[in-house]
Order: sequence, then structure tokens, then C-alpha cells
Amino acid sequence: MFTAVVSATSLATIPFSRTYVAENEIGYLAEAVRQGSTCGDGPFTRRAARLLADITGAGHVLLTTSCTHALEMAAILLDLRPGDEVVMPSFTFMSAANACALRGAVPVFADCRPDTLNLDERLVEAAITPRTRAIMVMHYAGVACEMDAIGDLAERHGLAVIEDNAHGLGGFHHGRPLGSFGVMATQSFHQTKNVQCGEGGALLLNDAALVDRAEIIREKGTDRGRFFRGQVDKYRWMDIGSSYLPSDVLAAQLTAQLEAFEEIQASRHAVWYAYHEGLADWAEENGVARPAVPEGCRHTAHLYYLLMPDLERRQAFIAHLAERGVQAAFHYQPLHCAPAGVRYGRTAPGGCPVTEQVADRLVRLPLFAGLGEQDAGAVLDAVRSFRVA
Ligand SMILES: *Cc1c(COP(=O)(O)O)cnc(C)c1O
Repeated sequence: MFTAVVSATSLATIPFSRTYVAENEIGYLAEAVRQGSTCGDGPFTRRAARLLADITGAGHVLLTTSCTHALEMAAILLDLRPGDEVVMPSFTFMSAANACALRGAVPVFADCRPDTLNLDERLVEAAITPRTRAIMVMHYAGVACEMDAIGDLAERHGLAVIEDNAHGLGGFHHGRPLGSFGVMATQSFHQTKNVQCGEGGALLLNDAALVDRAEIIREKGTDRGRFFRGQVDKYRWMDIGSSYLPSDVLAAQLTAQLEAFEEIQASRHAVWYAYHEGLADWAEENGVARPAVPEGCRHTAHLYYLLMPDLERRQAFIAHLAERGVQAAFHYQPLHCAPAGVRYGRTAPGGCPVTEQVADRLVRLPLFAGLGEQDAGAVLDAVRSFRVA
């Protein structure tokens, strides 16, 4: 498992995560069921896509069944071929690596920065070979990668940039929305994300030339979208593709969530800053690192993490919190040394020592929209009662 939530004792009162129910959510779900057509590309699919375009500034938004599927679509749209290489962080979710491996391409794992835990842009150049086709970045915790440097590198080497923006919805880097830097970006609406519909995602396209083919890939490789718009008189198998279009019922739930986006974010940010301010002294005294948010980044409060001195103290800390009814969780296990990472990928020169350390040291605290001041205070008390020996 890439993540584990330590099950709390019978005292458990503060879960790691809890889903937020938006004001219109139940109403829209009922409306979607009643509208008589629940397949994809219905009215709610269009509404959710418009709301997403507003938040991200993306030129074209295609809802998908997941972020994983959006990444698979991106790999197909890039025409990744066997032996092609894609540079990505080792410290990320495995879907980016899967998307490449499924095309026969090789994920090349580079280390992360010790401050933001994002792909270390200073290590990317050494990972590039004549077979490199793309750089896949992921904005960890919704804090932007160094997109200026990465964009320059990509341009110099003729590489595509893809953003796995699962954590970054609503984030900015020097005034520009996350998801708008890559030729493509992907979003996740899995239950664990800031905005969710159980299972769902989106592909953001920042190059209009990709839109027609992306629609075909999403519809089993057919031009069914054009057929329903009356642009062709029959639909046919045009390209490879799969079934990546979500039901309009899920899009209804997503529409309600996206309409509540500002409320959701305000609530998450309040918890994030309560933790960050409330733990400044304790972190300093105990040799614990808090998240770094570089100048010019507006983060998304997707998660709040602490870096403990080592694995042993991390595990003791999680157990300490569990005893006090606070569920905390570790996070990604490095991809470069995971069984499939070794089999399908390659590690960039210099290895990934920071990733290995961080994976052992990181703890995430409960963070969700609707976590009240009192519960945030209880989390703070539980954390501050732990002394790093
Ligand atoms: C959650 C997540 C995914 C996968 O999202 P799904 O919608 O569940 O496929 C991919 N990348 C990152 C960084 C994620 O956090």
C-alpha cells in the first residue's frame, strides 16, 4: 500500500479524512437520475467542465473516470512508444509511471527537493537522454514545482511537460494557475481529494490541436462525440482508445462540489494555517520540519505534513496520535525501488536519496473541509504532547 491510515483506538474522534457534502450535492444527484439519461457528456458533464475551466484557466477540459485514466490518455496523446523515456519524480503516486509503462515507455525516476518534496528541477537535465519525450511533474500538497526552470529545460530539449495536478486544483505559481503550465494536466476527483465525486478525474488540454483526438480516445477510439453533435452521420473506430468518460451522475456530484469550491478551500486553509502556526515552536524545539511554501506559490491546502527526524520516531508519533484519537497517515513509498518501478523504470543518475528519507519521515495530519476549530485544537494538543527524544 502507498498509504496507510493507522486505525485509531476506541477513543477515535478525529479521522484522517471525511467527505464534505456540498449544499446542492443531493439535489443535483437526484436531478441527474431523473433527467432520463445518465451516460456521459450530459448537461452536468458540461457544467462541471465549465467550472473546471474557470478555476484552472484551461482552454479545454475533458472529464474522465479518474486521474489515472487522464494520465493514460496523456500518454496516448503523446504517442509514447516502447523505449521512450519520461522523467518524473520517484516521490509521487504510481499512476504517472503506469501510464508510461502501459505504452512500453520507461519512467525515469528523479529525486525530489528536500524543501517542497517536488521533483528537483536541478536533477532533471542529468536524467534526459535522446529517448526522453516528456517531463511529468506533480505539485505535491498543491505547492507548485519550479515551473520556470522546468519549462526552460523542456523547451531547450524539445520535451512535453505534463502536470499531474491531482493535489493542485486552485493553486497558483507566480499568478498563474497550476494545470496551465503543461501541454496537458490531469485532475483527480477521488474521494480523498479537495473536490470529489468518489471516483473521477479530468484531462486539461492547453493545446487546441489535441482536443479532437482526446475526445476520440476517451470514447473507445470512436468519433461518437462528433456523431452526437451532428458533425458526422455515423461513428466509427478511428484510433486506439478506451472508456474514459464518466457518468453524468458523477458529474452532477462534481458540479455541486465545484460550486462549493471556495467554501471548501477556505475551510481547508483555515485548518492548514492553524496547524502551521500552532506547531511552529514545537517543530523548532523537536527538530521537526513543517511544509515549505516558496515565495510566489499559492498552495491548495491539499494536505498538511510534518517531517519527523527518522522512521522510528515517525512510527512512534503516529502511534502516539492514535492513542489520543487522532488518525495520522504516512504517504508515498518511493517508486524507483518499488517492485514495478525496478521492473519498468530506471533511476536517474545520483539515485533518489531524499525521496527515500522523506518517505520514512513524513506524517500527514487530519485535514478536511469541515474540520472545526475545536478538533484542530485537539490535533494540535495531541501533536504537542509528543516529545522527540
Ligand atoms: C489521487 C492521485 C492520483 C490518482 O487519482 P485517481 O483519480 O484515483 O486515479 C494520481 N496522482 C496523484 C498525485 C494523486 O494524488
